[in-house]
Amino acid sequence: MSKSVNNMSMGVVEPQERLKHLTHCGALIEVDKNMPVTRYYRSGTEMLRMAKVYQREGNHENAFILYLRYMTLFIEKIRQHPDYASVKSEVRDINKKIKDEIMPTTEKLRTKLQAHYQREYEQFLASKEAERVRELERERERQRQREQAGASSIPSLIPANLHVLIDEVNQPSAPDLDLLDKVVYPNDFPTGANRSLPGSGSGLLLPAASEATAADKTAVSKPSFDRNQKPAYNRTDSLLAGSLRLVHVPGNTMDVFLQLAHANTSKNIETCGVLAGNLSQNQLYITHIIIPQQQGTPDSCNTMHEEQIFDVQDQMQLITLGWIHTHPSQTAFLSSVDLHTHCSYQMMMPEALAIVCAPKYNTTGFFILTPHYGLDFIAQCRQSGFHPHPNDPPLFMEAQHIRMDGQDKIKVIDLRS
Ligand SMILES: [Zn+2]
Ligand SMILES: [Zn+2]
Repeated sequence: MSKSVNNMSMGVVEPQERLKHLTHCGALIEVDKNMPVTRYYRSGTEMLRMAKVYQREGNHENAFILYLRYMTLFIEKIRQHPDYASVKSEVRDINKKIKDEIMPTTEKLRTKLQAHYQREYEQFLASKEAERVRELERERERQRQREQAGASSIPSLIPANLHVLIDEVNQPSAPDLDLLDKVVYPNDFPTGANRSLPGSGSGLLLPAASEATAADKTAVSKPSFDRNQKPAYNRTDSLLAGSLRLVHVPGNTMDVFLQLAHANTSKNIETCGVLAGNLSQNQLYITHIIIPQQQGTPDSCNTMHEEQIFDVQDQMQLITLGWIHTHPSQTAFLSSVDLHTHCSYQMMMPEALAIVCAPKYNTTGFFILTPHYGLDFIAQCRQSGFHPHPNDPPLFMEAQHIRMDGQDKIKVIDLRS
């Protein structure tokens, strides 16, 4: 199982194994008891928003995973939250939605994926078989040429009816084959589905980058599989790959935000805003800064009336992609309070950014908690207010999964007035 997981990007695995792996990914969601339970409802709403985008774009794998995660979260995991009782009625509504809409949709996706995996698997077997036949023909041609060249000198060494099977997996087209041992005639090969391909029927991974050259594979698979018409599978950009999706940041985001913050900044007071946007082709696009009603100090900023932010996001179908705030008199870094603030963003959205603008130093930081250490560490930390954290290994880092889009302009929704 773990072997096929690690090698999933390599290629073709039995359809049932691939579905099993998707289902496994769909169960990868945990509920943190210290996170307000309402956050999970927000997150669930955005999960569905993204699942619909994936579905519309034909990325059935990612849509399937997100729907499964949604169901895992609200049918099972949310019950572990200590405040579950306070949201039971919401869960009832969600369960109805799951039963009426999400389950049927997910089942349809499962059927589609299964059919697609089956096609890919059969194409893989067919291309492997075709390559083997070609190799046999090449080998027979070489043999014929050698027989012609050497017929007069060593006729007695080559029996006319020599039939020897080649181990096609371990001995791919070696140029110096010992002819006496390796002569092969295509007719001697068993054909059809039940010949002994490694892995077939066993659920084991098949080596996708097999002996067939890329050109050979294309030649075989093209007539029956047009990538322009069908969603691409085996994609390295899927949620299966586990890497962070690219986040696009409009080039003027920081300038626009600093203008909005200017009055506060001149009084040495912090300003904060939520970064929101959308998903397209498995990349995330920040499109809006939402400035909530807030209360700032020289080194902190508290959001008020969060529900106003959610209303706006729901109206505009925006996904939460992080937050931005000023350090009026300090450099760009994440304070201990910032780390905890960011933790709840990043737990709900692994790509969420913390942008820190430090106008006094004319610098900007684009930060995330280190995914394999800082995120867990801060999630476990029970202290509040400013408090020291050990900083080795590092708790946060410069985000690597961002792209500044110079042409794009950020839009502002200012809820302060
Ligand atoms: Zn800060
Ligand atoms: Zn802490």
